[in-house]
Formats: sequence, C-alpha cells, structure tokens
Amino acid sequence: MISLTIDEKKIEAPDGATVLEAARLAKIDIPTLCHDPRMKPHGACRLCIVDIAGLPRPVTSCTTPATEGMVVTTVSPRLERLRKTTVELLLSDHPNDCMVCIKAGDCTLQELAYKYAIRESRFKGAVRQHNRVDNNPFIMREQDKCVLCGLCVRVCDEVMGVGAIGYANRGFESDICPPFKNELNCEFCGQCVSVCPTGALSAKMWAGQPRLEGVNTTETTCTYCGCGCNLTLHNHGNKIVKITSRSDNHNRGWLCVKGRFGYEFINSPDRLTTPLIRREKGGKLEPASWDEALGLVVAKMSAIKKEHGADAIGGLASARCTNEENYLFQKLMRAGIGTNNVDHCARY
Ligand code: SF4
Ligand code: SF4
Ligand code: SF4
Repeated sequence: MISLTIDEKKIEAPDGATVLEAARLAKIDIPTLCHDPRMKPHGACRLCIVDIAGLPRPVTSCTTPATEGMVVTTVSPRLERLRKTTVELLLSDHPNDCMVCIKAGDCTLQELAYKYAIRESRFKGAVRQHNRVDNNPFIMREQDKCVLCGLCVRVCDEVMGVGAIGYANRGFESDICPPFKNELNCEFCGQCVSVCPTGALSAKMWAGQPRLEGVNTTETTCTYCGCGCNLTLHNHGNKIVKITSRSDNHNRGWLCVKGRFGYEFINSPDRLTTPLIRREKGGKLEPASWDEALGLVVAKMSAIKKEHGADAIGGLASARCTNEENYLFQKLMRAGIGTNNVDHCARY
C-alpha cells in the first residue's frame, strides 16, 4: 500500500494505483469522459487533470501513478476553469440536439455541460458534418456527437479482441469508423454502444422508444445461456424498451448480441402463453391449463416407468438454463423418477 494526500485527505491506495483510482477509492469525484476502469487508461479527454505538488502544470490523473507521499489537489478555480474550457471546446463542434437525442438524460457530456453551466460555447468555428449511419440491424452511429474518447475502439480491441473499428484521419477530420469506411461488419455485441459517453453510438432499436419518462428497471439474469449474465431490463408499461448490464457483476457489464439486442421476442404476439396438448393422435395442439399438462406428463411417465422401469426414461436439460435449474432437473430425474439418464445439449 502507498500513502498519499488528496485534497488534504490522507489516503491509502494499493501499489500500482493511478491518482484517479486512489481518489475514487476515497470517494473523491474527478470528472472523466474517456475513462472506464475495465480498460487501460487512455488520457484522451483531459478532464481528469489534477495538480501535483512539485509539478509545474496539471497532469491527467488517469495516467499518473500514485506514489508514496504525493500531494494532490483535484479542485481549484484554475482546474475548474481548464475543465470548463475543455467541455466548451467539445461543445463548440457538437450539435445542439439534446431535446431529441437518444442519450439525453444518460449522457456524460450533457451532464458536464450542466455541471459547468455552459449554455453556449464561447468558441465558434467549423462544425463537422456527419450523416447518421444505421445500415445494420443493431448499431446507429452519429459521429457529429463523437468526442473522440476512444472508448469504443478500445473496448472492441481490448475486451472483444475484434478490432472492428478504429480512427480514420487526424485532428479535426478524425472519425471513428470500420476499416476503409466500409459498413460495420462485426459481432454486434454492442459493447461499444454501452461505453459511449454520448449519443454518438446507440442501438437502432432504442430509437423513438421512451428514454426516461415512465421507464422502470428490473435486475434479472439472461436466459440465453448458462453464463447467466446480469441484465437490467428497461420497461415502459409491459414493453421492454432497452437492455443494459451493470459493470459490478460477474460479466462486468459485457453482453453478447443476443443478451443485449435479442429482446423483441418478449413482446411478440406469437409467444406461447399456455401449454399445448395434442389430445388425439394426429390431432392439433390445443391450449391446456398447467394442471392438465403436468398431470398428463406425470401419468405418461408413471405408466412408462411401471411397464418398462425408470431407465426407460431419459431427461435432456439445457445449457441455456442456469446451474440451479439444471441441478433441480437432475434431482428430479435421479431422486424423483429414479434414473441417471440425464444429459444436456452442450455435451455432445
Ligand atoms: S450526445 Fe449528449 S450532449 Fe450531445 S446531443 Fe446527445 S444528449 Fe446532448
Ligand atoms: S458491436 Fe462489438 S464487435 Fe462490433 S464494433 Fe462494437 S464492440 Fe466491436
Ligand atoms: S463514438 Fe462514442 S465511444 Fe467512440 S470515440 Fe466517439 S464518443 Fe467515444
């Protein structure tokens, strides 16, 4: 452990921690746009600047290692003025679009503009023009809202190992895009959407859906596979309008394309809402109550067991169930029916 002083507070931080990490451990808030603790520090946005005793000018706290005896100041009129100027410069080239932006209410840039009370940027000049790109089923890109934090490029490279997007051009012309400005052709996991601090990347399915008003959230577990990733369902009435995932969970907020975007089936009118029973051989499947359906299963299984023994019955569970559900299933087969014939689809 190392000891340092931040804003006149004595702090203990683990060896190797950055100044930003040490400050956050002590619940000292330093604004950032390009930082995500799940990825390597990048130092792109310059908002996390701090003063360190003995250094002539502010440094980025996300890339500066904390050292023994360091004395750090995170808030001062000069630091706040510099941070405000950085946000103003970002906003000088940003569409005034919050009223209709999909990200409003959940946008770090909007929050910073609010924090520093920036109604209008003092800086006027050329403005980048980018059309909205939504020529794939999942991801919408609005590059005129990009602050070049690089989070999307880094998550695609560092976390996904895909490298489907990168920087094109330099300086004012910089742009985040797939190689050679081709259409996005990737895993569509949406990790880039989940880390984008502005509305530059969003999900096509969110467009036109309620953003905050009347939207409730429910924590749950993804049912697509046995990884059991944490999901936060955003619902408006009976309709799921968005799925996100918390970063403090075992999946660290990362999801695959199914978990993040495969939720439209929930509101599909084609979903089965009752069990179906074929009452006559060759007949149609007809709706039944759960009591009737379960009663039929028990009667048929009991008859097979009586006539041929328990090992005439086998149970196939699913890799898409949770560990707990699979545990209960094997218990039903072994202890309830009396057979070890139990297997599932992932063990070919
Ligand atoms: S990205 Fe953020 S700041 Fe920009 S228009 Fe959307 S909500 Fe407003
Ligand atoms: S959706 Fe996933 S694979 Fe595609 S660009 Fe984004 S992070 Fe990379
Ligand atoms: S698209 Fe979003 S995540 Fe990517 S660099 Fe721009 S603002 Fe950052």
